[in-house]
Amino acid sequence: MTISYIALGSNLGNPAEQIASALQAVAKLPECELLAQSPWYRSVAIGPGQQPDYINAVAQLQTQLTPWQLLHALQAIENAHGREHHQRWGARTLDLDILLYGSKTVTDSELDIPHPRLQERNFVLYPLFDLAPNLALPCGTTIGSLLARCPRQGLRLYQEN
Ligand code: ADP
Ligand code: MG
Repeated sequence: MTISYIALGSNLGNPAEQIASALQAVAKLPECELLAQSPWYRSVAIGPGQQPDYINAVAQLQTQLTPWQLLHALQAIENAHGREHHQRWGARTLDLDILLYGSKTVTDSELDIPHPRLQERNFVLYPLFDLAPNLALPCGTTIGSLLARCPRQGLRLYQEN
């Protein structure tokens, strides 16, 4: 059993619905148990062009899937939510990224764990810290120390109107 952290993001269609539905789908994955979900955040898109705000959250999962099995299962959920791969960092209905997989490091053509942009993304670090304030990367760097160096600019808690 391994604890893994998954980042969820959506800025197309009805983002709140996509995130809620993705969390349900993650909870139903085989050999996985959804242990916790973070508060939801709203973030200003950093990708190309004008894009709607994102809704972001992080899920804590206990899993027996390998990192690659987990990636493929998450990609199937993205596809089921109408994800189309057009432009890198372009707007998307659903993005599911593996942030951490226990204390394992993976580097191959398909998968990088820890997620290489985790350190600079406030919309990942803040919800991750909410879930696991004492968590550390495989290299020993704590999430708290990364967060202290990452401005909160453009990020706020998501409130339903
Ligand atoms: P991003 O999430 O960086 O905005 P994409 O979702 O479009 O970009 O990137 C998808 C590709 O990233 C996939 O083809 C997948 O193989 C690769 N990838 C590498 N590491 C990870 C990871 N930790 N989690 C999810 N996808 C990853
Ligand atoms: Mg992704």
